[in-house]
Amino acid sequence: MTLVMKFGGTSVGSAAAMRETADLILQARDTWGDVAVIISAMGSKPVKVTDLLLEGAHSAFTGDRDTFPRLARLLRDIHYEAIDGLLSPEGERQIILAEIERFIDRFVSLCGAVGVLGELTPRALDTISGMGEQMSVRILAAYLRELGYESEAIDATELILTDANFQNAAPQIASTRKRVQARLLPLLEADAIPVITGFIGATADGVTTTLGRGGSDFSAAILGQALDADEVWIWTDVDGVMSADPRLVPGAISIPTLSFREVSELAYYGAKVIHAKTMRPCVEGGIPLRIKNTFNPTHPGTVIEEDSPQQNGTLKAVTAINGVSMINVEGKGMIGVPGIAARTFGAVARLDVSVLLITQASSEQSICFIVPESAAAAVVAGLEAAFAEELGRHDIERIWSRDKIAIVTIVGSGIQTTYGIAGRIFSALGENQVNVIAIAQGSTEFGISIVVAGDDVGRAVEHVHNLIVAR
Ligand code: ADP
Ligand code: ASP
Ligand code: MG
Repeated sequence: MTLVMKFGGTSVGSAAAMRETADLILQARDTWGDVAVIISAMGSKPVKVTDLLLEGAHSAFTGDRDTFPRLARLLRDIHYEAIDGLLSPEGERQIILAEIERFIDRFVSLCGAVGVLGELTPRALDTISGMGEQMSVRILAAYLRELGYESEAIDATELILTDANFQNAAPQIASTRKRVQARLLPLLEADAIPVITGFIGATADGVTTTLGRGGSDFSAAILGQALDADEVWIWTDVDGVMSADPRLVPGAISIPTLSFREVSELAYYGAKVIHAKTMRPCVEGGIPLRIKNTFNPTHPGTVIEEDSPQQNGTLKAVTAINGVSMINVEGKGMIGVPGIAARTFGAVARLDVSVLLITQASSEQSICFIVPESAAAAVVAGLEAAFAEELGRHDIERIWSRDKIAIVTIVGSGIQTTYGIAGRIFSALGENQVNVIAIAQGSTEFGISIVVAGDDVGRAVEHVHNLIVAR
């Protein structure tokens, strides 16, 4: 039996956390036989190595020559602390220290080059930000060897072949599968434990890419599918998927089971506990996914499986995305004119902006949709250019963005079609003075998304969450 396990930043965030993680790996190996391990960069909250690497690159780009050397010292301290706590001087301590030093030197020289050239490409960002995982795998694999087990640190640049869409690269499944099987199966057969970098892949030319922030979960699913794994387990710092982000809602409760569709909806609409792309390889491979807490391992966590036929409309979880804008295209001359929607979304797509949701228009005289606030000005300008003629004729009167709003999404199979549920949600919001700006077009059976003012989001989440726990 093959189990793929991914450990997030906090699970490898210190020597003590890496010890817990190693215990869990060894226990799983006793039960499952073959275990492949994927880990993130070290990240004891709130200091995450990936954030530090990115901050170094961005500050160097602005001409700041002081920040990245300071961050290099911090990176060195974080990794040295783990090495000192885990590896003995008689063992591999010096070797691994030297390897980490090489990555930190590289970080410093890349940031220096960014500063001198005054250029920071997505490609350079991926090379720099991917180094956190390359450092953490070397430490954990050496620790497993120190404990007496065969283990090898592997950079996923050898395994996951992607396109060249830096910062959000897409894996090429067939070639990845061949590489994974050729490289990992012999190791597993020899009873070794591969410790593989999350987050990164490489183009066909071997240039490092990343799968997007939080992408190590996706790495685990990709490798699980490529290995035909029996299960994929994501180890994090909370008891599985919860009814709300426990950092924001203290009464949040752990959810024992969810369907792939429910979790995808939650992740897409902001629940950070799992990366939104993780589910697809698992669905395609028919691989159950489990989310568990490294710091409370006896808790069963959440099991994510095929959609259950039973859609009773139970409210399961609520999530929110802040910092979005609603773009409105308005005009009396739009009524019945074919092609306006297609041209609108075509223009947005050309700007490489993804639309988070399309809201229910109040009448045919407007099209409204949500984009990240950072893209709003560019989207309005792009649409004004695309519709210059219609604006001139006043067929379209106004293209504008409403900023500082939020999307609140409530998830549960069948909630859209179960009688009375939407009514309960809207009453709870109304009774608590949350003004609903818009609701999402009902495309899925698994969630309802509501657009509210940014200032209302905390109250909206709290009162919707009360409905979930009161059931
Ligand atoms: P990791 O480094 O293990 O991948 P992340 O920080 O990426 O950890 O994700 C785990 C965090 O996700 C939790 O600490 C929690 O604050 C946050 N989170 C947001 N929404 C939820 C939710 N619905 N259930 C559980 N955790 C959530
Ligand atoms: N280390 C990467 C990040 O912080 C990937 C991950 O943690 O999943 O985005
Ligand atoms: Mg994560």
